[in-house]
Amino acid sequence: MTKIALLTSGGDAPGMNAAIRAIVHSCQHHQYECIGFFHGYNGLLNDEWQALTHADVGNILQFGGTILKSARCPAMCDPKGPKQAANTLRKHQIDALIVIGGDGSFRGLEALKAHWEGQVIGLPGTIDNDLAGSDNTIGFATAVTTATHAIDKIRDTANAFERVFIVEVMGRHSGHIAFNVGLATGAEAILSFENCDPSDTAPQLARLISQIQVQQQHNHDSFVIVLAENLWPGGPQALKAQLAEQAGIDSAVCVLGHIQRGGSPAPEDRLLATELGLEAVNAVSRNQDRIMIGKQGSTLQAVPLNGAINDAKPVNGRWVAAHEDVLTEYLIKHSE
Ligand code: ADP
Repeated sequence: MTKIALLTSGGDAPGMNAAIRAIVHSCQHHQYECIGFFHGYNGLLNDEWQALTHADVGNILQFGGTILKSARCPAMCDPKGPKQAANTLRKHQIDALIVIGGDGSFRGLEALKAHWEGQVIGLPGTIDNDLAGSDNTIGFATAVTTATHAIDKIRDTANAFERVFIVEVMGRHSGHIAFNVGLATGAEAILSFENCDPSDTAPQLARLISQIQVQQQHNHDSFVIVLAENLWPGGPQALKAQLAEQAGIDSAVCVLGHIQRGGSPAPEDRLLATELGLEAVNAVSRNQDRIMIGKQGSTLQAVPLNGAINDAKPVNGRWVAAHEDVLTEYLIKHSE
């Protein structure tokens, strides 16, 4: 009987549970055995696992987090780690390993592949949406929804006080969340990797200051800056200090942080996770190996793991342009 192992690794993302459920149901449908390892790759190193059947995945679809837990596992970056993981998989006579995670987790799969003959399949599970080969990753839609609702609330209080707000959103080193959330909330400024050079923020700062001054003189309204994490040297507090020092502009800082990773998955993420989970098991029966299952347009597809990790996944250029050329043009024009 074919035997599939499953784990969730790296940053958790809402919808991972829905993917686990789909994989387990599909395994039962195909009459495959399915076991789940706990705590990411640590479960393979520590041989910590449980068999998974319908009963284990009932009533989990609607919850964020992951019933298999997730964790970082630095030992996988040492050559001994993948070898040990391969031994555990051999001991359990596993035919295929499915990992739901981000690019780091997929690098772990590539490292494992050097020592193990079984099939490895990745499912894109990260709120950052930074994996090539799938329009969206599992968890991205929920993170965007959560951050949008949070900034709508910030906007109410910012309007009442005619305040400048700096709101930091997640995304690691990509601006998918920043641009989606910035456009969805009508942010006056979006500062992200796609439109701001972190090694030379002076022009962005000057532009921001004049835009805020225009808004304050003309509209007496709030000004929301959506800032991508890891972009601004010193983070949002440094930007706040620079606005105060260089132009006497008072601002409030809100770091949305881990609330973006939690919560009940949005329907888009539940559906994506379900489709990708079912297709991952189909890929096992087709003997596919070293692939990530993604969805582009309405098509499910298998892409090579190294492509998913290394190929660029740019933010929609039309959106970046729309923000600068049309949606905030009035601020830019008046401040020049
Ligand atoms: P994500 O999967 O969300 O990108 P990480 O980058 O933290 O999260 O990676 C998750 C885990 O994947 C790491 O803790 C480690 O176990 C494994 N991993 C990451 N990079 C490598 C690598 N270069 N070689 C082997 N394993 C890796």
